[in-house]
Amino acid sequence: MTIQEQQVCKNCILSDGFLGINLNSEGLCNFCENPSHKNQNWWKVEISDQKRQTAFEDWNRVIEDLQSTQNQSKYDCVIGYSGGKDSTALLHLMVKEYHLNPLPVTVDNGFVSEVVIQNFKDTLERIKVDHVIIKDAIGTFRKLYRTLFLNHRSNEVCLTKNVCDNCADLVHSLVVRVAMQKDIEIILFGYSPDQIRRYFYEIPRHEIRYDWYPSLLNHEPFTEEDKQKYLMPRDFEDHVIPRILLPYHILQYQEDEIIRLVESQQLIQKGNASTLKTSCHIVATSLFYDVNRYGGIPYTLQFAELSRQDPTIRKKWLRTVRMLSPLIKNAKFNQEGVKLVFEHLGFTKEELLHRIQAQLDQDPHKERILRNLSLID
Ligand SMILES: [Zn+2]
Repeated sequence: MTIQEQQVCKNCILSDGFLGINLNSEGLCNFCENPSHKNQNWWKVEISDQKRQTAFEDWNRVIEDLQSTQNQSKYDCVIGYSGGKDSTALLHLMVKEYHLNPLPVTVDNGFVSEVVIQNFKDTLERIKVDHVIIKDAIGTFRKLYRTLFLNHRSNEVCLTKNVCDNCADLVHSLVVRVAMQKDIEIILFGYSPDQIRRYFYEIPRHEIRYDWYPSLLNHEPFTEEDKQKYLMPRDFEDHVIPRILLPYHILQYQEDEIIRLVESQQLIQKGNASTLKTSCHIVATSLFYDVNRYGGIPYTLQFAELSRQDPTIRKKWLRTVRMLSPLIKNAKFNQEGVKLVFEHLGFTKEELLHRIQAQLDQDPHKERILRNLSLID
């Protein structure tokens, strides 16, 4: 057994000392010791059959309603369309299976991957629908990311989670606004069954109304113009709040099936469905932050759960994490994209590493994090 093996949970792939994870005397991590263990970055969500069934029935009603009122308006629903495999498959489902006319809406945060641009082209050649791309919030996204990167202070919650949650609130706000302008009352997002910790099947309407505006927008460098990108209760004074549904939480979803579908239908070229290729440059940069700050890749928490469910793939995930960790740590994973982020957010890699070091120095888990970091290379 190598030194490296000793620091990794015997049953899954989590490292001792990473984001509050401890191995017990038998070499098991908190999640393997206790399946209901919660970590602020990740926890397992169990949905009861009853709840799932209720949501499934609602979905069938929604589709029937959309089909029966189809000719009354130009579009039946909005799809939050990122150009990744899941939203592409959702677009295919709505058009080819349900015979509806959705409006795919893409939010450009200024850091979209080249592969995604190619995917738009390939998909929309096959599926003839209108496509709206929102580009006018790029300035707000930049300020948001810069503020989050330079002010991250947590010893427990990784930056990637914080960035993705904050970014999603702005993306959702912008998509809702488009739907409201066009009087479309149903919005769909292709979140996978794993992306379930914040919402199951439907984003509650009171959250759409009240919860997305972040308090950090009340300070510099944000202006009135930035604030207006978010939804406020006054936006709904004379307007019904659209429903936002997440159908993959209740429909059949298997990642390899989704990839097979989008490739076989020639919606996405072979290899371009990989999340590693379609995730935005901000994700690659926040992973760079987290690996150097916490000594591991946050997604390991998800991969660990997959290895728990199917022990035969544990080795594959261990290899993947060991292959990606040094690339991310040294800003070599999506190198060009990460460079672009530094350029546009207005700080250098060295400045960021300096801040990471200051945060790491005050972390009570510093020793174990440094040990884990020394094993990455
Ligand atoms: Zn474990």
